[in-house]
Amino acid sequence: MRWVRTFVYSSLPSRVVFRAGALDDVAAEIERLGARRALVLCTPEQRASAEDVSRRLGARSAGVYDKAVMHVPIETAEAARKMAKSLNADCCVAIGGGSTIGLGKAIALTSELPILAIPTTFAGSEMTPIYGITADGQKKTGRDPRVLPKTVIYDPLLTMTLPAKIAGPSGMNAIAHCVEALYAQDANPITSLMAEEGIRALASSLPVVVSEPDNIDARAEALYAAWLAGACLGHVGMAIHHKLCHTLGGSYNLPHAETHTIILPHAVRYNRDAAPVAMRRISRALDGVEAAAGLYDLAQKIGAPLALRDIGMKAQALDEAARLATQYPYYNPRPLEYASIRQLLQNAWEGIRPG
Ligand code: NAD
Repeated sequence: MRWVRTFVYSSLPSRVVFRAGALDDVAAEIERLGARRALVLCTPEQRASAEDVSRRLGARSAGVYDKAVMHVPIETAEAARKMAKSLNADCCVAIGGGSTIGLGKAIALTSELPILAIPTTFAGSEMTPIYGITADGQKKTGRDPRVLPKTVIYDPLLTMTLPAKIAGPSGMNAIAHCVEALYAQDANPITSLMAEEGIRALASSLPVVVSEPDNIDARAEALYAAWLAGACLGHVGMAIHHKLCHTLGGSYNLPHAETHTIILPHAVRYNRDAAPVAMRRISRALDGVEAAAGLYDLAQKIGAPLALRDIGMKAQALDEAARLATQYPYYNPRPLEYASIRQLLQNAWEGIRPG
């Protein structure tokens, strides 16, 4: 007999506390983890937030490490690991975006220290067992259950300082996780529900986040969607969109969230005919607009960059980028063809609205 509905679903264990003002719970949540000496991680720009966390933890704070940067260079990871060891830390608190949470993951990978994540962007890393470390100019990623944060505190108040030019692309990065979850090789009904709801909530809240920076309800809606998006990324495999962004970010040092924003409509257009059910769900979440064009229009509406040439990609590198993105086989609903991927990159470079 042939069963129509067939899937595997493995849930990932993490505790989520979501509330405006939830940062007040940080000491109680550390205690709940059974930890006594937390190393607080942040970027140099978010030092004040990390010090606030450290103050709230009182005697349970072991110190602050404020050197998190994009893509987790191995030197930073090793310095942070050393500091965690020398301070005898028994857990890490990562307050910030994907870069800071990524640093926490690099520490957890070798030490198994539990992570309490307090995300302040919409990137979604806090919900995934995926880590990335950059060595010799190459970012290597992997999945390991040890790096999945044990507890996540979502406090929409912490996103109020996120400027529109970071908030918009960060939200589009989250939408990309939802989009690719809908046509993932291991897609399942639960992540698909989260994915469609994530796109809907982000598409409706992001324009308000950027046009009314003080609107806490819109920020809360976007952060809720970021949680859903992160869970999608954590639960199922991604495809061509994430592969292309990884290649472009890693090989040409393009900014992460902006690259996702620009590539997404074109990757969706590439897969349009091979993933009709996913396209219908994306379109439904965008109020009925065609999926690829709707995502392009959303990026335009929130004032995000639309062309690779505007974020530092050189036209001469497009051939090589297309080659790098197609040299090893990986799952995608539509087979990878060099000429079509090269055209996709050309369209993204020029910032053309997918027809
Ligand atoms: P980011 O963490 O690099 O942050 C960007 C900048 O915004 C930083 O200067 C940061 O200090 C600042 N910032 C963050 N929150 C702020 C706030 N509320 N107010 C003011 N400034 C704030 O950016 P990101 O897009 O969140 O993360 C990108 C990185 O995360 C990439 O390296 C990407 O590969 C990684 N990532 C990993 C996963 C995963 O599952 N492993 C998922 C998504 C992203």
